[in-house]
Amino acid sequence: MKKLSHEYLEEAIEDSKPYAANGEIKPGIPGLDETMRDMLGVTIITTDSEIYKSGEWDTPIPMQSTSKIIGLMLALRDFGKERVFQTVGMEPMGDFFNSISSLESPANQKPFNPMVNAGAISVASLIKGQTVENRFNRYLSFLRDITENNELEMDQEVYEAEKKNGARNRSLAYFLQSTGTLVTNVEEALDLYFRMNSISMNSMDFARVGLFLARGGYDPDGNKLIPDHHLRTVKAIMMTSGMYNASGHYAVEVGFPCKSGVSGSIICSVPGVMGMGVVSPPIDSKGNSTAGGALIKKLSQDLQLNMFGIENIKDVD
Ligand code: GLN
Repeated sequence: MKKLSHEYLEEAIEDSKPYAANGEIKPGIPGLDETMRDMLGVTIITTDSEIYKSGEWDTPIPMQSTSKIIGLMLALRDFGKERVFQTVGMEPMGDFFNSISSLESPANQKPFNPMVNAGAISVASLIKGQTVENRFNRYLSFLRDITENNELEMDQEVYEAEKKNGARNRSLAYFLQSTGTLVTNVEEALDLYFRMNSISMNSMDFARVGLFLARGGYDPDGNKLIPDHHLRTVKAIMMTSGMYNASGHYAVEVGFPCKSGVSGSIICSVPGVMGMGVVSPPIDSKGNSTAGGALIKKLSQDLQLNMFGIENIKDVD
């Protein structure tokens, strides 16, 4: 077992960087371009508040699908588990994250889970507020509390691109309306979803989300923002579905809850131990950062972070 240190993290970054060559940067996301082909940054914050950061840790990229965790937490807080899971399922999905065919199964017209696009749009349709503006401001303010960063903002250019390139997400939302699953205003649910995807953050901000989940859901002043049972639900759903149709692979090889976004962002939460934020834009065909994925596998192995490992149970006679 290795010990977490600044030197170790530098080494881990260098070892993982070559995996970026196996991925492609998703076109059409403003702010991401070919100059980021070799980019890899990470921040780790332990539950004792020690901070380790390395590589391009402070380069912001849009949240994209990592935003789905915050939406789920807010909806659980607003409505509770029973109501949320009347709207969306909690089962892993074997198809791609923007699959339409998965919605057609007569047995289950709900989206499979809140981590795929259709599920996140349904969850967005639940979030309370009079107007989209209002709902988004609640979302942003919750995120700012979690990340301790009041400067976080939606990137207007990314938002315009999400709207312009949003045909598939519109199809998903209107399909959900046609089956009676999405009962509020479809365009408003989509608008909120596009905005959530467009907030830019660096690896420190992503790590703080992981830490929030790992450390009981407190803000810096010690206020509890969300009950433990909701945190458990969110981490379980991240574990089973957070890395899309590679979630099984990551459960085996990494063994702690993670959520990725097509910008190349990954949020990880090792309960009771640490939060981790990774930024590396090249992604594989399933939508997961290739160098980022390699890095979290390495960290899990070297630092023995796999939650399913008996070797992690310390102080047992
Ligand atoms: N903006 C992307 C979409 O809605 C986000 C998906 C993702 O990160 N996997 O398709």
